[in-house]
Amino acid sequence: MMEKLRLSSPVSSLRGVGRAKEQALGKMGIFTLRDLIGHYPRAYQNKGEICSVTVAASLCRAVGSVPPAAFVLTVAGEPRVSMIRRGLTLLKFKAFDESGTLEITYFNQPFLKDVFRTGRAFRFWGKPSLAAGRLNLTSPVYEPYYDGISLPAIVPVYPLSAGISQKFISGLIGEALKVAAGELRDPVPPSLLETNGLCTLPYAVRNIHLPENPEALERARRRLAFDEIFTLSLAMHAQRSERASTGAPKMGDGDISPLKSLFKFELTGAQNRAIEEIGNDLGKCAPMCRILCGDVGSGKTAVAAAAAYITVKNGYRCALMAPTEILAKQHFSDLEPIFSSLGIKSALLCGSMTASEKKRVRESFVSENAPSLIIGTHALISDGVEIPDLGLVITDEQHRFGVNQRAALKEKSQNAHSLVMSATPIPRTLSLVIYGDLDVSRLDEMPPGRQKVGTFLVDESYRARLLGFIRKQKAEGHRTYIVCPAIEEEENKKKEEDPEEMANLFLVQDKNEGEPPLKGAVQYAETLRTHLPDLNIGFIHGKMKTAEKDRVMETFVRGDLDVLVSTTVIEVGVNVPEATLMVVENAERFGLSQLHQLRGRVGRGKAKSYCILVSDSESQRSKERLETMCRTNDGFAIAQADLQMRGPGDFFSQNGTFRQHGGVKMPFSQSLEDSSLSDAAVDSAMRIITEDPDLSKEENRNLRFIVDIVRKNAENTVN
Ligand code: ADP
Ligand code: MG
Repeated sequence: MMEKLRLSSPVSSLRGVGRAKEQALGKMGIFTLRDLIGHYPRAYQNKGEICSVTVAASLCRAVGSVPPAAFVLTVAGEPRVSMIRRGLTLLKFKAFDESGTLEITYFNQPFLKDVFRTGRAFRFWGKPSLAAGRLNLTSPVYEPYYDGISLPAIVPVYPLSAGISQKFISGLIGEALKVAAGELRDPVPPSLLETNGLCTLPYAVRNIHLPENPEALERARRRLAFDEIFTLSLAMHAQRSERASTGAPKMGDGDISPLKSLFKFELTGAQNRAIEEIGNDLGKCAPMCRILCGDVGSGKTAVAAAAAYITVKNGYRCALMAPTEILAKQHFSDLEPIFSSLGIKSALLCGSMTASEKKRVRESFVSENAPSLIIGTHALISDGVEIPDLGLVITDEQHRFGVNQRAALKEKSQNAHSLVMSATPIPRTLSLVIYGDLDVSRLDEMPPGRQKVGTFLVDESYRARLLGFIRKQKAEGHRTYIVCPAIEEEENKKKEEDPEEMANLFLVQDKNEGEPPLKGAVQYAETLRTHLPDLNIGFIHGKMKTAEKDRVMETFVRGDLDVLVSTTVIEVGVNVPEATLMVVENAERFGLSQLHQLRGRVGRGKAKSYCILVSDSESQRSKERLETMCRTNDGFAIAQADLQMRGPGDFFSQNGTFRQHGGVKMPFSQSLEDSSLSDAAVDSAMRIITEDPDLSKEENRNLRFIVDIVRKNAENTVN
């Protein structure tokens, strides 16, 4: 009784997959043949170019270490097996090509004696090395080679886990590909493929696993990257169009002039536009789902205040939630006086308050004289907090909240309008992918009179001057931030070399190749203390407890510390006007948008501020990227440049897309190198949506199926 295999068949229906293997595969998230198809190679070995023994030998002599390569060699003589010590046998033999002879060694595989018979030829893949002046290959991968055979030139390397070998998973995937050839349908309509110059899905799937040649592999990668962005855009849009059309309170009165007269400044054009967009949304009974994107310092708090004011004026409550206590307290001290002079009561609720304080605040929410503006951390959404007549929930830096907290927030604010604020500028096309389910308001204009933060790119040779500059800040009563990419320098330690890792991963960029080692915040602070003994130097990093981080942060805010060394955990949005210097070590390791965020920590007071990017990277690309930072202070321009230079990957991870849409993996678009393909994918999605909003046309049937899967994955992790 042999059932026909389908992509939905369990892996156990394949030959060789028993209980143990089934479990091992399950741990890798592979249950069906379809999952096997989706288990993409993490790298490829290019065995198409055959290296000769003499070339390898002279390369080894010239540069010491050379990458793994393919050799076609004939066994010169019978392998010798010797026992080195208990549990360690050595198998050695000589093999030759037209140019010369080398030696091949295997450990603990004496049975290979029967494979490597004198006169037989094999294609080997391994890292050549010199031992006592002679060329050697240790434990190379081998395949029998004879006239007329065609071995694949590009061989996939799969991610593995315990109990699953490369050979085994390759075999299974080969079987699954046979099934896919008969069953796989392309969900993307042919016309779209044509306009975007894309290959079909069956072609892409075959060539991502077993590429015919490097060009075919590149086409496959482009197609799969397109699909990731295209389907996510469609899924986000579907989410949005299914949004409730009623349920939220309608707020008719959008006049904010009393509030405006209390600001110490004129609102910018962008602030006024955003407030108008929000006012329009609040005037409808469909719940607002809007994100306010604005660079650091663009004045999002004033917009939030306006939204809160409209809400309160119309008889509802507004909750403003910040990711850290420091931020919540800062919002409270900014907004409480303004609202109080408008006769509106505010309250603050934070996790660090004593139980009885919290109880008192909670109870006030349901009392006679209840506060209308409630500011706090996620303590606001913890159990037992009840906010009657909640009309609007504003979340600052939502991506910094965890998945559970976001789910709880959603639960608590079912019938309320929602405004999310983000300081990460995002290029317009990408915002459609990342925030496709939200309406976007942008603060693309800075309040007038901001000083440009002087930005400089320096290398290690400036170290002494840098120390002098830090000292100078202190002498002038200012403070310095120093950001390091790692917590401890140990993080740099190279993993032990794994033969599989040593494969020539010619298609996988090793971003860190040849880059200077990482600075760790902890040691950095210690060293700095010896150089600047008269300064107060503290550090914070992500592995410290929240309370400890907050404590150190507060000492810096108060001025008890002159220098704060940290990883990128330094609070987004924290306002320390006395901080005038931001030093970023290993600047080459950071995305431009991230550097821009970090730079936004300074330049908040009256004094001239500086950002020093320290990098010893030799890479021309790194230098160009970092020079962009020196040229401009405009977050959106930087984001656009980042997108063009690095592709969309950084944005997806930085903006928490992987966290927001936790189940949606985007490996191919992560490594896209230019933005034109992601733009095309978003454009295509928008075109489909305009023509067929609910994907009900016959030609979009398969698409609908896939989009539903993407949505389900996204929801599983968020809701
Ligand atoms: P962010 O968008 O980073 O949250 P904030 O709301 O904290 O920015 O505003 C940064 C600073 O700019 C605050 O000191 C605020 O008072 C000031 N500010 C906001 N809007 C304006 C404006 N239109 N004109 C001048 N200053 C403004
Ligand atoms: Mg802010």
